[in-house]
Amino acid sequence: MPASSRKRIVLLGATGSIGENALRVIAAHPDKLELVGIAAHSRHARLAEIARAHPGVHHVALFDDAAYADAKTSEAFPTGITLYRGLEGLNFLARLPEADTVLVAVVGTTGLEPAITALAAGKNLALASKEILVLAGKFIMAAARASGAKILPVDSEHNAVFQCIQGHPLADVSRIILTASGGAFRDWPVEKLAHVTVVDALKHPNWSMGPKITVDSATLANKGLELIEAQCLFGLRADQCHTVIHPQSIVHALVEFTDGAMLAQLCPPSMTFPIQHALLHPARAAGVDAPLDLTKLLSLEFRPVNEARFPLLRLAREAMNAGGSAPAIYNAANEIAVAAFLAGKIPFLAIPLIVDNTLQTHTSFEPADLAAVLAVDAEARRIASSQF
Ligand code: NDP
Ligand code: MG
Repeated sequence: MPASSRKRIVLLGATGSIGENALRVIAAHPDKLELVGIAAHSRHARLAEIARAHPGVHHVALFDDAAYADAKTSEAFPTGITLYRGLEGLNFLARLPEADTVLVAVVGTTGLEPAITALAAGKNLALASKEILVLAGKFIMAAARASGAKILPVDSEHNAVFQCIQGHPLADVSRIILTASGGAFRDWPVEKLAHVTVVDALKHPNWSMGPKITVDSATLANKGLELIEAQCLFGLRADQCHTVIHPQSIVHALVEFTDGAMLAQLCPPSMTFPIQHALLHPARAAGVDAPLDLTKLLSLEFRPVNEARFPLLRLAREAMNAGGSAPAIYNAANEIAVAAFLAGKIPFLAIPLIVDNTLQTHTSFEPADLAAVLAVDAEARRIASSQF
């Protein structure tokens, strides 16, 4: 493929777990993908290393002011790089004229405006940051419809659903089932959960991920966020979105059609598979990690989720059913509670209590615009923070 027909990629959240996996995918396909812009919160030394390894990178953004100032005086970046700062910097990268696809993998909700900026500029959006769909999915989907740009799901379950429904009208889908490994405490006795430490919560049985999503996997808030994400991405009713415990994390999602047939997507639990699918779509190429080996023993188990053990999944379903602003409240309260748990300020079991209390203070309504959504988000953060 000539250099000019390579897909040019902007990577927001380049230094994170998704970012590093995306770099492995991009490095493995120099004939098909070229990295042109990168952003992170503050880790500028790692951004400089990435820029040196990818000569196509000419634009680098740092959200944090102090890190931007340090990077400006650092000699680690190769020549020919322009540095940008703050949200404006992320937005600049999101609409970079030479970019084809913007991968948003910024933890939390900071990626919202850049994601909408990318779609409005007609870029394909490879989307890892599930929180922004839960916060403002209606507006993100509207931005994609308005410009005709594609949203390519990177979250493994949603990427799996996306692959399974290709070529099938939505009317033929009766339900989707997202699998959940069950996280770090799947098999812990319920009474022990009161004593969970940060170290315990950060040990995920199958996936290696950033700290926020690893805690969300332990509480199953991650699966709750994913149900809402799926409803929004695929235009489904809440009662069509389901989860099942699948300890092996090999089947990522199943789609059941109206005739009862199910299609499933299988691959090892490595994010390089969905990232590569999203970046190369609709093309395919050799994967970065080895595929499943079916000559070796492979058992696949499925069992129902015990919602008594995972109240954050039940609360997510309630927020999804309530619709309107409720998912934004759920997301903001959870983000505050998880950050407080990681900082050692609250015990593990306070996370669902804070989310529940915050949801109860709120009567859901349909936000008219993005400003209304952001106001709901800020108010939920204030209420959640007042509880510890
Ligand atoms: P990490 O914590 O590993 O990385 C977060 C990344 O976001 C880092 O590059 C960080 O930069 C950057 N970042 C944080 N805040 C800002 C900001 N304000 N402006 C710019 N960049 C910022 O997270 P993950 O990679 O695990 O997750 C990223 C997103 O992808 C999350 O939304 C998560 O839910 C989603 N996701 C992750 C999966 C996984 O396997 N990890 C699977 C599916 C979805 P710095 O290093 O400088 O702090
Ligand atoms: Mg997922």
